Amino acid sequence: MVKEYDILSIGGGSGGIATVNRAAMYGAKAAVIEGNLLGGTCVNLGCVPKKIMWYGASVADVYTKYGANYGFTSSDTQFDFATLRKNREAYVERSRNSYGGQFERNGVEVIEGYARFVDPQTVEVNGELIRAKHILIATGAKPSIPDIPGKELGFVSDDVFAWEELPKSIAIVGAGYIAVEMAGMLASLGVQVDLFVRQDAPLRYLDSYILDGLLQEMEAEQIHLHRHKVVQQAQKVSDGIQLSFEDGSTHVSETVLWAIGREPNTTGLNLQAAGVKQTERGFIQVDAYQNTSSPGIYALGDVTGEKELTPVAIKAGRTLAERLFNGQTNAKMDYNTIPTVIFSHPAIGSVGLTEKAAIQKYGAEHIKTYTSTFASMYTAVTQHRQPVKLMLVTLGKEEQVIGLHGIGYGVDEMIQGFAVAIKMGATKADFDATVAIHPTGSEEFVTMR
Ligand SMILES: Cc1cc2nc3c(=O)[nH]c(=O)nc-3n(C[C@H](O)[C@H](O)[C@H](O)COP(=O)(O)OP(=O)(O)OC[C@H]3O[C@@H](n4cnc5c(N)ncnc54)[C@H](O)[C@@H]3O)c2cc1C
Repeated sequence: MVKEYDILSIGGGSGGIATVNRAAMYGAKAAVIEGNLLGGTCVNLGCVPKKIMWYGASVADVYTKYGANYGFTSSDTQFDFATLRKNREAYVERSRNSYGGQFERNGVEVIEGYARFVDPQTVEVNGELIRAKHILIATGAKPSIPDIPGKELGFVSDDVFAWEELPKSIAIVGAGYIAVEMAGMLASLGVQVDLFVRQDAPLRYLDSYILDGLLQEMEAEQIHLHRHKVVQQAQKVSDGIQLSFEDGSTHVSETVLWAIGREPNTTGLNLQAAGVKQTERGFIQVDAYQNTSSPGIYALGDVTGEKELTPVAIKAGRTLAERLFNGQTNAKMDYNTIPTVIFSHPAIGSVGLTEKAAIQKYGAEHIKTYTSTFASMYTAVTQHRQPVKLMLVTLGKEEQVIGLHGIGYGVDEMIQGFAVAIKMGATKADFDATVAIHPTGSEEFVTMR
């Protein structure tokens, strides 16, 4: 007998789970198909274990940099990575297990296995046919690996979370946020880190004001940045893995991490049978309502390549469920002004346009920026003073704040509230009219001149 549902999600990660839960709350008969671990990338191999490693690195910073100037010293500080790993995995497992309760309350069924389309309304999982009026593709993405000799010698971010011990040294190849985050946290945990980028810097989309702050801190953290390095080969040598670059240079480290980007998980889905079109880069093509080229089939989250963040996948999923099952026929996800944090050391927070993007969009004569640089009070009493750099990007005579960015201690927890104000169209005058909270770093955002 063929199982039938109102909505079926292929993929039980951030986007798929959010969609079926919301749909089921409106009475839809819903199921989620997951081939691996429920929770997908974020819970198992992304945001959650990454953030715990980041916190671990921040604790290490207290011991190695900041504690002594606050009067804390210890002659036998030990770091046992196995303890961090064990507690991290226990937390990840608890997060993953929490889905069961939600599914039970909402009446969502979980089907274990990998799905492939048979036709636009039918998928097959482990030889069983399943039909649904609405099918969501929320299969996420996976790390890309460079197509070079010796590529199998390098790890990807998924592997980092399986490590039982930390390497002594690592060469990270890549310039995106995952490369930068891994570099920061591994360096703080005592790994010697070399970061190789193809151009002149990582995260090149950032304004130089913020990026300079990051590069300065990388140097202070002894993360060795190697610019204009195009990797051509990896090979085993007696003391580790040797990378060879286009410019003839080589570098040997104990381990290598490929962090060169992510590609959509579509292998095995048999998209042709469903008539679902892909972009040139293989992501699933969708319109503003998450509709694919095939009626009744939708896609969202990383598999669409659109703002690859967990809260984006979740919001897109809930919005889709509102449209399909709660009569909100025009509901669509707003992909503008999405706040983000890069958990570098220190963190970088952003909402809205960078200065360069704003100038490109509106013209330099309409854009005015405000900046503030200061040593965070937390670090200012220590020998490891670390700057905080904050920036506002405003538009026109009204000085509407269309961009807010920062790097430094505590910035990760500053951005969310400001994102609400920016979404509501706040101006610089609104910021100035707000009383500062003293003494904090975020007060600088409302006192900039
Ligand atoms: C190292 C790292 C750090 C990150 N940090 C952050 C962060 O700090 N903040 C943030 O917002 N985002 C972060 N992300 C991004 C975030 O994890 C993703 O944007 C998010 O998980 C996307 O959700 P999704 O539902 O699209 O896909 P996923 O969560 O990847 O879920 C897709 C699921 O589909 C399953 N699947 C695939 N094919 C099939 C099939 N054929 N049949 C059945 N199941 C299938 C997969 O097993 C997977 O579980 C990070 C990602 C990485 C890799």
